[in-house]
Amino acid sequence: MDYQAVLEEVAAFARPLVRHGRVADYIPALERVSADRFGMAVADIHGAVYGVGDWEVPFSVQSISKTFSLALVMAQSPGSHGEDGIWKRVGREPSGTPFNSLVQLEAENGIPRNPFINAGALVVTDRLQTLTGDASTSMLHFLREESGNPDLAFDQVVADSEAGHGDRNAALAHFMASFGNLENPVPSVIEHYFWQCSIEMSCRDLAVAGGFLARHGLRADGSRLLEAREAKRINAVMLTCGTYDAAGEFAYRVGLPAKSGVGGGIIAVIPGRCTLCVWSPGLDARGNSVAGAAALDHFTTLTGWSVF
Ligand code: GLU
Repeated sequence: MDYQAVLEEVAAFARPLVRHGRVADYIPALERVSADRFGMAVADIHGAVYGVGDWEVPFSVQSISKTFSLALVMAQSPGSHGEDGIWKRVGREPSGTPFNSLVQLEAENGIPRNPFINAGALVVTDRLQTLTGDASTSMLHFLREESGNPDLAFDQVVADSEAGHGDRNAALAHFMASFGNLENPVPSVIEHYFWQCSIEMSCRDLAVAGGFLARHGLRADGSRLLEAREAKRINAVMLTCGTYDAAGEFAYRVGLPAKSGVGGGIIAVIPGRCTLCVWSPGLDARGNSVAGAAALDHFTTLTGWSVF
């Protein structure tokens, strides 16, 4: 497969859609990003990386971090499979509600539907805090290591902006705490969650860092991060819950496990082949990058690769 040629063709297809949609502004600091950006990277399972457009420009990973915090919790609790560990405290069903919704939590006793809505990610961050003593720094080190980029950093302006507008996430955390589903104090959990979301990475960084998801849990150097069944589980939850309330549409159009973020990035996995990341800040009404989703759709159309 000539990845570079495919990426050029995908970029030409998606570029007219750049600037479509709206750049997220509910976290004010996200609004400073130019809507003109478009980048895409592919990291194959053998370690080769290809890119097009703004593929080396860092952006705010936001909810894409939820994939990696789940992986890190699994990696930190080996042998904690099945109904043990984190899956006692968070489900794995699509929510059918917006990513920051409170409505299901009361009826479902403070157990979030899945780890990729905010409530679920807060539980995962809480677990990581218990396991490591410093959830956000552990995440930063993990991402530096998996991406091979020692310069990855938090964006303090974004983290502060999110904290300043974080009433909804604080409400979710307090509500879950009232059901006994947090192990650490709410202020500490939400602070680590905001820091983790503020990490800046490029398409290149994210595609390389997510390589273990395409390698059935193995890192590029052959060492094992996760059991194959754990990588499968993360991919499965990405497919069913990773693109907000549009996961059905995304599976229909793209047919790959994927996780999006309100920074406009989306990572997607073709197990056994490669990990992709695309970025363009304009979001559709459900929070997914317009040009990014179209690019992934076109990539799977051109290559014929999907999980189906
Ligand atoms: N930090 C964002 C929030 O909690 C993440 C949102 C997202 O990317 O879905 O609101």
